[in-house]
Amino acid sequence: MRFPFALSAKIAAHIIKHKMRRTPKFAMVLQLEPLHTCNLTCTGCGRIREYSTNLKDMVPLEKCLAVAQECDAPMVSICGGEPLIYPKIEELVQGLLTQGRIVYVCTNGMFMRKKMRDYLAAIYTPAQEPILQRLLAEKLISAKEAETIRQADASARSKLVIRPTSWMYWNVHIDGLEYTHDLIVEREGVFKECVQAIKMAKILGYQVATNTTVYKETDVTEIEEMFKFFSWLGCDGHTISPGYDYDAAKKDMVKRLGRDPKQFFLTRDMTRQKFARIMDWGRAFTIFGTPVYQEFLAGRRELTCTAWAIPTYNIRGWKAPCYLMTDGHYGGYAEMLEKVVWENYGVVDGKARDPRCENCMVHCGYDPSGALGTNYQRGDNWKNFKYNFWPRPKPFAGGDKVIAYTGVSIGKGHLAEAKAAVKAADAAGSQHVGTFCGTGDEAKPLGAKAE
Ligand code: SF4
Ligand code: SF4
Repeated sequence: MRFPFALSAKIAAHIIKHKMRRTPKFAMVLQLEPLHTCNLTCTGCGRIREYSTNLKDMVPLEKCLAVAQECDAPMVSICGGEPLIYPKIEELVQGLLTQGRIVYVCTNGMFMRKKMRDYLAAIYTPAQEPILQRLLAEKLISAKEAETIRQADASARSKLVIRPTSWMYWNVHIDGLEYTHDLIVEREGVFKECVQAIKMAKILGYQVATNTTVYKETDVTEIEEMFKFFSWLGCDGHTISPGYDYDAAKKDMVKRLGRDPKQFFLTRDMTRQKFARIMDWGRAFTIFGTPVYQEFLAGRRELTCTAWAIPTYNIRGWKAPCYLMTDGHYGGYAEMLEKVVWENYGVVDGKARDPRCENCMVHCGYDPSGALGTNYQRGDNWKNFKYNFWPRPKPFAGGDKVIAYTGVSIGKGHLAEAKAAVKAADAAGSQHVGTFCGTGDEAKPLGAKAE
């Protein structure tokens, strides 16, 4: 099966329950942002620019668990900010699992190995030694770290930790191969750390997904190579969504990077071009998202936005109308459902009901539409059923041939190279077009990788 049976069954039961009750609007995935603090400053991230990133500004644990109960979404995606910075992340994951939810920890990967060492320390007995030896052999932990695990004291052994379970996924942010990813996250070495963390997670029995945003400059050939590589590493699934020029990200582009957002984010036509092969990707790799949503991305059909099905809760409340756009925050999910005029948003028959929605095809607005049967076409239910319950694609056999390390690992300080190019462009008074984020298929970055 493409997804664990219990998880697919839970989601299907949730939809059937609400259809039978004729609930007009209900939550499928809660995007829970317990904090907005992050250790990175990725290009295109609106979160760390729109909200306070002060560690004092956090949603208390009890409130996080209460809002999950309140909206009763079967899946909770813990995002942020970097959720592994949240001081009570272990309690939060455990609490959501106890509520019976499917949990995604959306992380940039930088603290994953630390959390998994905590797990090893908590469960260590000499019987774990073969695993420790394997981690050492693959250089995923150091000799000193292995010793710390072996010598764990009572407090480390009794610490609440994030354990592997089929109900939880590490959802690792990966926007391309090494060169591209490190440029987008604006720090060298991040891609390599993510790969190490994913390898370690798979050895320890965790489920891992990758989470990718496609921008205007993203080279889709590289995205396919990325899928091959991470499928070969044993990842259990891949989320992919088009980048969208939401206000906070747009303002940051202009102010901090001196870039024209139009050079970075996708229009609807561009999205359809980039995602033209997504159905093939869905057959070859375990792409998360319904086939109906994939057809929408590929430009084969229209869908109506159902942003209410993937609500976001953060330090200011229930964010409306969606994960991307902020027209207000509400105290309760039901209040938000009632007060927001949902008919004012989305694109219907090619016409944007709000100009800010014009280019949006993101998964948090449209993926649930595919599952909930808005714009239903004959055969959709069977298509979705087959996609979920059929055998999942095998790990890509030739993934070891992918040249994943295209940046700092092969001796290129490419961020320095890119920054120098920006300075040179500044000095010459030119626009920073094509300077960041990837091996673009339109404008080659100024700091383009040497062959
Ligand atoms: S890791 Fe995530 S939250 Fe942090 S800056 Fe990057 S996109 Fe934003
Ligand atoms: S189309 Fe939906 S998800 Fe996209 S920006 Fe508009 S309201 Fe948000």
